[in-house]
Amino acid sequence: MLLVVPLTVTAAGVALFWTGLPSALPPCPTYQFGHFYCPGCGATRAAAALAHGNIPLALRQNCAVVVLPALALLFYLEQVFKSFGKSLRFPLIHRPAFLYIMLGLWAAYAVLRNFIPALAPV
Ligand SMILES: [Zn+2]
Repeated sequence: MLLVVPLTVTAAGVALFWTGLPSALPPCPTYQFGHFYCPGCGATRAAAALAHGNIPLALRQNCAVVVLPALALLFYLEQVFKSFGKSLRFPLIHRPAFLYIMLGLWAAYAVLRNFIPALAPV
């Protein structure tokens, strides 16, 4: 049961994005009306690229869609090992400094992608 729910949710998400759901969604209203990229711009296209296994394109569209699930996977692996009585710990992700650095990078990315074309979603 510990693995069934997350794997089912992941498989459902991959299936949704694999079948072309992003093309059926409306464009981001922040970009449509404000003409600037919000922190979530490109996230749907990044998830679709990730569902197709295209990690470079997913990073290009919105790097948070790649980085955040990777971090969530590390936390989840710790809990799975803990539930089986084993110890698996990634100390870096538990440091407050890591959280602050990641938040700072994400905030900088959210702003800079409006000024540096290489960071903007395609
Ligand atoms: Zn947006």
